[in-house]
Amino acid sequence: MAETHPHYPHLFEPLDLGFTTLQNRILMGSMHTGLEEERNGFKKLASYYRERADGEVGLIVTGGVAPNRAGWVFPFSSRLASKAQVSKHRIVTDLVHETGTKICLQILHSGRYGYHPFCVAPSAIRAPINRFRPKALSEKGVRSTIDDFARCAELSQSAGYDGVEIMGSEGYLINQFIVEKTNRRSDRWGGDFAHRSRFPTEIVEAVRKRVGDDFIIIFRLSMLDLVKGGSSWDEVVTLAKAIQKAGATIINSGIGWHEARIPTIATMVPRATFTWVTALLKKEVDLPLVATNRINMPDEAERVLAEGCSDMVSMARPFLADPHWVRKTRVGKKQEINTCIGCNQACLDHIFSKKTASCLVNPRACRELEAPLAVAEVSKSIGVVGGGPAGLACSCAAAERGHRVTLFEKASEIGGQFLLAANIPGKEEFTETLRYFREQLAKLQVEVKLKTEPTVETLAAFDEIVLATGVRPRVLAIEGSDHEKVISYQELISGQKEAGKRVAVIGAGGIGFDAAAYLLHATGSTPDPDQFMAEWGIDRDYRNGGGICAAAELEPLREVFLLQRKATRPGATLGKTTGWIHRSVLKRNRVKFLVGVRYLSIDDHGLKIEQQGETITLEVDTIVVCAGQEAEIALASRLDEAEIGYHLIGGARRAAEVDAKRAIFEAFELADEM
Ligand code: NAP
Ligand code: SF4
Repeated sequence: MAETHPHYPHLFEPLDLGFTTLQNRILMGSMHTGLEEERNGFKKLASYYRERADGEVGLIVTGGVAPNRAGWVFPFSSRLASKAQVSKHRIVTDLVHETGTKICLQILHSGRYGYHPFCVAPSAIRAPINRFRPKALSEKGVRSTIDDFARCAELSQSAGYDGVEIMGSEGYLINQFIVEKTNRRSDRWGGDFAHRSRFPTEIVEAVRKRVGDDFIIIFRLSMLDLVKGGSSWDEVVTLAKAIQKAGATIINSGIGWHEARIPTIATMVPRATFTWVTALLKKEVDLPLVATNRINMPDEAERVLAEGCSDMVSMARPFLADPHWVRKTRVGKKQEINTCIGCNQACLDHIFSKKTASCLVNPRACRELEAPLAVAEVSKSIGVVGGGPAGLACSCAAAERGHRVTLFEKASEIGGQFLLAANIPGKEEFTETLRYFREQLAKLQVEVKLKTEPTVETLAAFDEIVLATGVRPRVLAIEGSDHEKVISYQELISGQKEAGKRVAVIGAGGIGFDAAAYLLHATGSTPDPDQFMAEWGIDRDYRNGGGICAAAELEPLREVFLLQRKATRPGATLGKTTGWIHRSVLKRNRVKFLVGVRYLSIDDHGLKIEQQGETITLEVDTIVVCAGQEAEIALASRLDEAEIGYHLIGGARRAAEVDAKRAIFEAFELADEM
């Protein structure tokens, strides 16, 4: 019998499924990476999964694979429908099975979310997030789709997978059959709930029949649709029982359709917010259940299991951020976990832009073969200037390769722009990245010199010099910009200066939005799950279908105007998958957006602007300047004068639209080359 873990007894308890046993209760949730569609992508995919398996995760669920062409998420996306496709999957399963980890293939039919002209659905109703109108499946089409699911499962089995996950949530095809608003059929697949839920149960039955008893079938069940007209709680329970009876092994939780306008995984969602719904279902069925969404650190994961919410926990993005999450937790090194901060910037935003996924805090993710970060042939002395994200990432990666690194930071603590980001409401997770870097610097014996600006002579003694000196806020060049009402975003967010009750924010980029969010909330206020649910209209009492109710009226702390010169939509440069959340938060806090403006002057009355030929004075107490950045390159100029070579990375290299993703990526690339 396995020994009980002293700190995480629930997480590390093996799960006996009767015919197979999982080594722990941690499931790596399905996450499309884009490697699936790359040339020779399966070798890369295999290395990506293998590294997570080496990190001791109990069960991996692959990214979604379509059972037929109509089920593609986008044209030519991954599909498993013929024997010819089996061998490439073998590369993955063989490599993973050299470890103790099990792996299931997710079968995902996108239905009306398919971004292509062949998409199908129960009824020809277009999704609000897709321009393609689906074709309604004929009865014969429904039957053959069920058969395609079963065939895909059978092929998965022959490819060596330990099981499949049937994607029944997030608003994809199966979900579209279950819910009346997307299923208007009058045949045996539509009408009352018994008929609408026939499609998922027949899929599970057909799959079980085809794969036999000793094969894992996970059903991802939408426990909380978060859309108007979504399933009622009674329907969720009835379906779960039917799925159990049909032969599923495990039920995983699905939270929110993709078209729902409630955040479910973004960083501002408090950790483990949605586990209550899995806990409710736990009272109704006997199958092992998996809780999910915004679980990213071991203590939450253990708590979810200890409180009996579920039998397993699922994490997807946390395994992009740190492939060794489980092993670090098991050996008592949770402080070394590189925590997923829920930003979506390098994972989901990449996928939705047709780029291969990676991770902002771990640029090696999905590049395990190309970027092995091998030990350097010659150990060099490296001086890194600047302890923001770029300098930190470069110092750690260079030290990991065996170089001797000294990091100079002029402030009294490391962090740079991340210290500011961590003060924004809903971005508290950034403190975890700083904790991770602190641990790494100590572990890798990087010499950290705080409150130190090195001289040219000091730097000249190093084999390599890296300047990650970052950016400084752009100063506004209009009459009155030195007025006492004017403050920079740095002064605001660091708490150095306080804003009045009426505030104009100049610049509607990422930082303008952050500054506005900061102004609307009391300093240090972090919403707990209950407050978050009230503010977004999530009903724990499940009185309406979909689990939604009217959102609570918000009480912003200040009256805020957000301005930009361009006439485009404010926040157009924000992340694809999170921009709508930031816009929504500001709108609901009654922030006034003013676009196409010209800044004229600032005086005791406030900010004078011109908009559509009209001159307006915004009578504000404070003007916060978020007008972009300029590179901090004074030291670079001094090195140039002394004709000493150096590497420039992050904002110091290119200040325009610098973000942490690019800064960390550049730092990592440089460290890999030095
Ligand atoms: P940014 O996105 O480049 O925005 C700068 C803003 O300042 C623009 O709205 C620009 O709009 C305005 N501006 C530029 N020059 C100006 C001038 N001379 N006078 C007045 N206004 C001027 O830069 P940022 O907001 O500083 O953000 C920096 C980076 O961090 C960006 O890449 C951003 O994406 C990233 N970031 C992202 C997030 C997020 O996704 N949530 C949060 C924080 C930061 P107009 O020219 O139209 O006035
Ligand atoms: Fe998490 Fe951001 Fe990395 Fe995605 S990019 S895995 S959200 S830290």
